[in-house]
Amino acid sequence: MEPIASTPTHCPYCALQCGMNIMPLPQGGVEVTERTDFPVNRGALCGKGRTAAEVLSPAVRLTSPLVRSGGRLAEAGWPEALDRIAERLGTIRQEHGADAVGVFGGGGLTNEKAYTLGKFARVVLGTSQIDYNGRFCMSSAAAAGTRAFGLDRGLPFPLEDIPKTGCVILVGSNLAETMPPSLRFFTELRENGGTLIVVDPRRTRTAEQADLHLAPRPGTDLALALGLLHLVVAEGRTDEEYIRERTTGWEQARAAAMAHWPEHVERITGVSVPQLREAVRLFCEPESAMVLTARGPEQQSKGTDTVGAWINLCLATGRAGRPLSGYGCLTGQGNGQGGREHGQKADQLPGYRKLDDPAARAHVAGVWGVDPDTLPGPGRSAYELLDALGTDIRALLLMGSNPVVSAPRAAHVEERIKSLDFLAVCDVVLSETAELADVVLPVTQWAEESGTTTSLEGRVLLRRRAVTPPPGVHSDLYVLHELAARLGVEKGFPTEPEEAFDELRRASAGGPADYSGITYGRLARENGVFWPCPEPAEDATDEAHPGTPRLFLDRFATDDGRARFVAVAHRATAEEPDAEYPLLLTTGRVVAQYQSGAQTRRVTELNAAAPGPFVELHPRLAARIGAADGDPVTVTSRRGRATAPARITSAIRPDTVFMPFHWPGEGRANTLTNPALDPTSRMPEFKSCAVRVETAASPGTSSRTPAAARQGARPT
Ligand code: SF4
Repeated sequence: MEPIASTPTHCPYCALQCGMNIMPLPQGGVEVTERTDFPVNRGALCGKGRTAAEVLSPAVRLTSPLVRSGGRLAEAGWPEALDRIAERLGTIRQEHGADAVGVFGGGGLTNEKAYTLGKFARVVLGTSQIDYNGRFCMSSAAAAGTRAFGLDRGLPFPLEDIPKTGCVILVGSNLAETMPPSLRFFTELRENGGTLIVVDPRRTRTAEQADLHLAPRPGTDLALALGLLHLVVAEGRTDEEYIRERTTGWEQARAAAMAHWPEHVERITGVSVPQLREAVRLFCEPESAMVLTARGPEQQSKGTDTVGAWINLCLATGRAGRPLSGYGCLTGQGNGQGGREHGQKADQLPGYRKLDDPAARAHVAGVWGVDPDTLPGPGRSAYELLDALGTDIRALLLMGSNPVVSAPRAAHVEERIKSLDFLAVCDVVLSETAELADVVLPVTQWAEESGTTTSLEGRVLLRRRAVTPPPGVHSDLYVLHELAARLGVEKGFPTEPEEAFDELRRASAGGPADYSGITYGRLARENGVFWPCPEPAEDATDEAHPGTPRLFLDRFATDDGRARFVAVAHRATAEEPDAEYPLLLTTGRVVAQYQSGAQTRRVTELNAAAPGPFVELHPRLAARIGAADGDPVTVTSRRGRATAPARITSAIRPDTVFMPFHWPGEGRANTLTNPALDPTSRMPEFKSCAVRVETAASPGTSSRTPAAARQGARPT
C-alpha cells in the first residue's frame, strides 16, 4: 500500500460523503485528515470516517482470490478464479437459461461500477435478475418521490438550506448516530430560531436535540402524518393558492386525511392530540418548513404510502418546490443515490430511465451498441431475488453486499445462498456472505481507485485514487472486463473509471438523472456538481450547465408540471403483536458501526466502541421478564431467535424493543425481521415485526404472560 500523495477525497461509508484528505505517513501507510473545503462536513468526521484507512491495511483486507476446493476456500491466481466464474456462469446460463444467473449489487459501488454491472447483466449475461441492497435502503422514498414529483432525488436542495428554514420534521432518522456531522445543520437551525421536530419511537440522541419529540408506535407514522394533515385542514392552515396552482389530486387526499380524526390517530400512534396540535403549529407558522424522512417510515410494508402521507403534508401547506421548503429523503448508503440511478436496480436503465420504456431502451441500447430487443425486461426486487436463489436462480454474482447479515429473514436468505449451484463474490473483506462463495475476488476499494458517487444531496462527487492497491487486488471494472471477454464480449467494458463514466454520461443524456454535462475535470475543480446537469448542445454558445442544486422551484417533473397528491389511508403493519408475540421489534444502527459491519467490525477502535449487538428494552418490560442490564435476553419472532445482552433504558417505549443489525451469529437482528414487501417499492418491513422477549436463561416465561402481552400492546 504505497501512498501516492496527499489526496482530497470522500469517505467510503454513508451518503453524507464527507470530504477528507488521505495523508501519507513518514513511517508508511496513510491516515485520514481533516478537509475543510467541503461544505457538507467542513472538516468534521465521525469515527467511521476518521478510522477508514484501517480497512486499507493488507492485514484487514483480502489480497488474493479464493477458490473453493475440497469444501474450503483456498488462495488461487486471478486467471484460475476468473476462468472458474466464467465457466460456471456460462454453463448454468446455457443449461437453465439466462435468468438462472442472478446479479446482486450494492449501494456502496461507485456510479461507474453500478453502471457497468447493470450493463454486464443485461448485455453479457442477458439476465433480467439483477437488483441491489439499495432496495433495502430508500426505495420507498424513491417510489413516493417519483409518484408525487415525477422525480426522485434524495434531497431536492442542499443541506446548507436546512439552517435557514423555519421548521424541520425529521421522521425516523437518528442522524446523531448515522451521520453525526450533519447534526450541525439542525443545531444551526435552532440557533437561527427554527424548530426541530423528531418523530421516532425511541428517544434517540437526535430526538434529545428536538424541540418536540413525537414517539409513535413503530409502523404508525402513516397515521401520524394523516392526523397532522387532518389538523392542518381543520385549523385552516392549508395553502389554497399553492394547492390550486401547483398540485393535482387534493380533494381525494383531503378526504382521506379527514377520515383520520386526531383522537383516532392518538389511539393508533400513542402520540397525544396536544402533541399533534403543537407539531402542526410549529410546522405551519414559519414561512418555510421541510419534512425529511429516513429508514423509519420507509422500511415498512406500506413505506411508499407512509412517505406519500408526509409529502401530502408538505404539499397541502405549500412546502415543496419553494425556497427553503420541501420534502427530502436522507439516503443512507455511500452511493445509495447514484446506485439507483444507473442501472443496477431491477427495473431501471442508466440516467434513471425505466427498463420498460421503449424510448429508454432504444437510447441505452444505442449507447451500448446492441439491439434494444435483446435487453431483458424488469426482474425481481432484492428480497424476491434472494428468495429465488437455489430454485429459479442457480448462480449468483455478488458485488459489495453482505445479505447474510443485512437481508430480512436472514437465516432463510443464508439457506437460499447455500443452496446455489454457484456463488461468486467480489469484496474487499471476507464477509459472512463471501465465506459461502465458490470464488471470492479481492477488489479495490475507496482510496485505492478513482470513481464517482452521488451524495444524498444529489451532488456528484469524485473520489480520487490515493494509494496503490496491494498486489493481487484488481478493480470491479477489471473483473467485469475480464468476465465479459471470457463470455464472448470483447468490447464495451473499460477498466478505467473515467472511460466508464464518459459512457455513463452518454447513456444518461436526456434522462431524468442527466449527468452528460459532468466530467471528471469539473468534479475535481468544483467540489461536486448537482444533477441534472445536461451537456450543452454542440452548437450552443452557452457556458457549461451549472448543475441543479435546487429542484422544482419552477415546476415539478411531472407531465403537467404539478405535484401529485396521492390519497393514502392508514393500515396496520404486516405483523401486529398478539398473545404469542406481544411486542414490536424495531432495528437500526449505532454510531460506531456501518450497515452489515463487514468493514467497521474490522476496525479496532470501532469494534472496541461497539463490540456486539444488544437488545434495548424499557425498565418496565425488563422488570416483567426479570432481566437486569447486561443479562442475555432472547428475542423470538416467527422467523427465528436472536440472543444479546439487555440494555435497559427508558428511552424506548415499553411495547417496543430495539436491536442494531450490524452483527452476524446469534445476535443477528435480521434473523427476526419480516420480509413483507411494500407493494410499490418492494421494500421489506425491517422496522416492525412482532416478537416476544425472555431471559436467555428461562425461555418460555416472561413476556409471554398475559400481563406482558397487555403491556406490549398498550401505547405509552
Ligand atoms: Fe463517513 Fe458518514 Fe461518518 Fe461522514 S458521517 S465520516 S460520510 S460515515
